[in-house]
Amino acid sequence: MTSSTLLDDLDTRDGVRRTAVVTGAARGIGAAVARRLAADGMAVAVLDLDESACAAVVEEIRAAGGDARAVGCDVADPASVTAAVERIAAELGAPTVLVNNAGIIRDNLLFKMSVEDFDAVTAVHLRGAFLMTQAVQRHMVAAEYGRVVNLSSTSALGNRGQANYAAAKAGVQGFTKTVAFELGRFGVTANAIAPGFIETDMTAATAARVGVEFEEYKLAAAAQIPVARTGRPDDIAHAVSFFASEGAGYVSGQVLYVAGGPRN
Ligand code: NAP
Repeated sequence: MTSSTLLDDLDTRDGVRRTAVVTGAARGIGAAVARRLAADGMAVAVLDLDESACAAVVEEIRAAGGDARAVGCDVADPASVTAAVERIAAELGAPTVLVNNAGIIRDNLLFKMSVEDFDAVTAVHLRGAFLMTQAVQRHMVAAEYGRVVNLSSTSALGNRGQANYAAAKAGVQGFTKTVAFELGRFGVTANAIAPGFIETDMTAATAARVGVEFEEYKLAAAAQIPVARTGRPDDIAHAVSFFASEGAGYVSGQVLYVAGGPRN
């Protein structure tokens, strides 16, 4: 089978070829999500701060017969978001699937946390999700179809050293439910995924910050997790694939904890 034939088959699985935007997709969870949505038959905008950092993920998707485009964008910046979404619509087609995944951490105990670190974290996670969703929603409303998937975290339930991140990730849940209320009548669903410990550069950085080898850090985390292992980016990509699918149209405003055990 040629790659174009494979792509044609994938594209017609749901009858329509969808364009998906995945933010923070140059690495970690976002990269796994981009690969998965491409395998599901979507054209994928691999969006990250540094466009050149997206090249490897784009190449991987194309090598597997999919369609992807690297897009440089700062999700916290309104002008950058507007330009990126316009470019995606022109080059890949109107986006009707959006995964708000871009994120940063600036952990510190409350009494030591700077205003700059509080604002930086809420800007990327919360303002970023707001700006991206606002820019993409008009394409979804016009298509009478949309899937918004936002990355929250188990830290939304509160986590020592993460006042900024926990507040942002709890905010993402409220934002998600509001989008579900406002856009449901236009065929748009919005759901949040709240991962527990996932093996990425982000958790490796946390291990480094507390002075523990990553392998040791993962083993200690796994000991507290009911399924007795830490998570992988593909665990999250699988959940995103479900929420982003055509068949999930009656599931909206939900928060799914993907953490190897129950959370609430
Ligand atoms: P990661 O490996 O650190 O990747 C995050 C990506 O987001 C990076 O490529 C980063 O680019 C990009 N990014 C940062 N600021 C951005 C901005 N302003 N505009 C566009 N892109 C930006 O993180 P991850 O572990 O895959 O996490 C992905 C998401 O899952 C995050 O929202 C995170 O909070 C959430 N999450 C992760 C875990 C976990 O255990 N890993 C658990 C719960 C939730 P640069 O490399 O240029 O900074």
